[in-house]
Amino acid sequence: MTQLPLDDDPRLVLATGNPGKCAEFQALFGDLVIEIAPQSEYAVPECPEPHCTFVENALAKARHASAHTALPALADDSGLCVFSLGGEPGVWSARYAQPAGGPAADRATQDGLNNAKLLSELNACTDRRAHFVCVLAAVRRPDDPEPLIAHGWLHGRIATRPAGSGGFGYDPLFVLNESGATLAQLLPEDKNRVSHRARAAGQMAQLLQAFWGVQRQPGADLKR
Ligand code: IMP
Repeated sequence: MTQLPLDDDPRLVLATGNPGKCAEFQALFGDLVIEIAPQSEYAVPECPEPHCTFVENALAKARHASAHTALPALADDSGLCVFSLGGEPGVWSARYAQPAGGPAADRATQDGLNNAKLLSELNACTDRRAHFVCVLAAVRRPDDPEPLIAHGWLHGRIATRPAGSGGFGYDPLFVLNESGATLAQLLPEDKNRVSHRARAAGQMAQLLQAFWGVQRQPGADLKR
């Protein structure tokens, strides 16, 4: 019988240098028998993200992490897409106001610059529809011909001024369709319930069970 990827070793390397993201994905995968391992533990060099789609960037990062660790790997790529800006800032969300190549700003400064640029680009625009997207890619090995790909979206609109002090990135400008609050006005646990990342992780959890045979912790049903 074919060996399933996480059968003997539950480690799934997450292609990120951000330890917060590992904890977030570990929690999002709930009771699956998976151990999310940060790629920093394996000294994986930074992976370029030159592609113009979220899928290609996520897949490139997953293949790169798997190549440097000889383990199955998972990567995410996410961003904000604004309808009337033709999908911008899109894959360039992180450094929208100051594209790669320029000097790197600290995260809070960069977020502030990005938000100011977004407001100025939208200026008098009345169509302010936008969505966040998160793509997750999982590979069993670097040349996996059947990567698992999951998507999650969160729909809303861009406010005319920032509101709220929580979250990061574009959260103070992103107004949820349902409640009219910005993401920065939500408690972290409420954002994490509806976020594009949570939705992509939910889809990925199903794919991991269906295609890689990942099991749930024994007794998980009883705890529900
Ligand atoms: P990453 O791919 O998760 O690193 O996200 C790239 C960029 O998209 C971030 O630097 C943010 O500018 C933006 N972004 C992604 N997810 C969120 C979110 O949940 N809230 C606000 N901004 C986000």
